Amino acid sequence: MTLHLADILAARQRIKGVADATPLIPSPFMSKAIGQEFLMKMEIMQPIGAFKLRGAVSAVMALPEDVQGVTCCSTGNHGRGVTFAANQRGMKAVICMSELVPQAKVDGIRALGADVRIVGQSQDEAMAESQRLCEAEGLVEISPFDDPHVIAGQGTIGAEMLEARPDLETLLVPLSGGGLAAGVAVAAKAINPEIRVIGISMDRGAAMYESIRAGHPVEVPEYASLADSLGGGIGLENRLSYPLCRDLLDDTVLVTEEDIRRAMQVMFYEDRIVAEGASVVGQAALLAGKIAMPKGPVGTIVTGRNLDMASFARIMVGEDVEIGDLLVKGQAYGA
Ligand SMILES: *Cc1c(COP(=O)(O)O)cnc(C)c1O
Repeated sequence: MTLHLADILAARQRIKGVADATPLIPSPFMSKAIGQEFLMKMEIMQPIGAFKLRGAVSAVMALPEDVQGVTCCSTGNHGRGVTFAANQRGMKAVICMSELVPQAKVDGIRALGADVRIVGQSQDEAMAESQRLCEAEGLVEISPFDDPHVIAGQGTIGAEMLEARPDLETLLVPLSGGGLAAGVAVAAKAINPEIRVIGISMDRGAAMYESIRAGHPVEVPEYASLADSLGGGIGLENRLSYPLCRDLLDDTVLVTEEDIRRAMQVMFYEDRIVAEGASVVGQAALLAGKIAMPKGPVGTIVTGRNLDMASFARIMVGEDVEIGDLLVKGQAYGA
């Protein structure tokens, strides 16, 4: 099984009117820092505050009439997207999440009307519960990343970026289960085979990064991170997002919590944008010198803004913040 640009263009028709095109805006600060134009695809402007609406709507709209309800495991944003999409079709949504998911994300999903189940200490345990519910309660499972309709939905971002700016030379894509990176790479490389697509993860529990190096899907421990949306495994039975990322990504890169903290401050103080840690890993990798300097315009995807505002405010003013068992050392911006 593989995926083509035509699948992505079909997904674009399915999501129309629910998850629409977002702006691609310049960052003057980042452009100056790298000496090339730096453009940001503003997925935080989707109605659920994250790009995951695209894949979720793409998958839920493709379901047959007689489906009663849907279920998924989620680090937060996929569950929000699936609930929003299920509401559009009058289906019930049961969202399984681990105890690592921040309360702000859990509250956001409950507020949309989902039946939320908190299970275990990892995304893998939440995934097992979601799979159990399919049989026990007759629900259809929507994988957060390993589903052709989900990947095609996320790929609409790549199609929009390349249509707006065919001259993009490099795309920096936040990378977890790889649904986003796979879809974006399929679209972007179909339009411009020369484009460089780089996946970026945090260095604590980077499942796709480790799997590509191992040559097959591997399990990694799951840790608390500023980039909580990038946590979790890729599934040992991964069918689609792993082979697509392995074959299409030009490189995968890791950033530290310190790199992410600094990039969140850059986004806030320079671009005046509130974004999750997962959303700024592209900027983090560039500013930390972990990516070869681009030779043309660079695009990234500002993937989500669903964070805990109290912790965010403390990070911005330079205070230490505890996220689970992780202590993020504070530093005032510019100090
Ligand atoms: C899910 C998510 C990602 C990563 O997407 P994958 O398809 O799992 O690789 C990045 N950023 C945010 C905000 C997310 O919610």
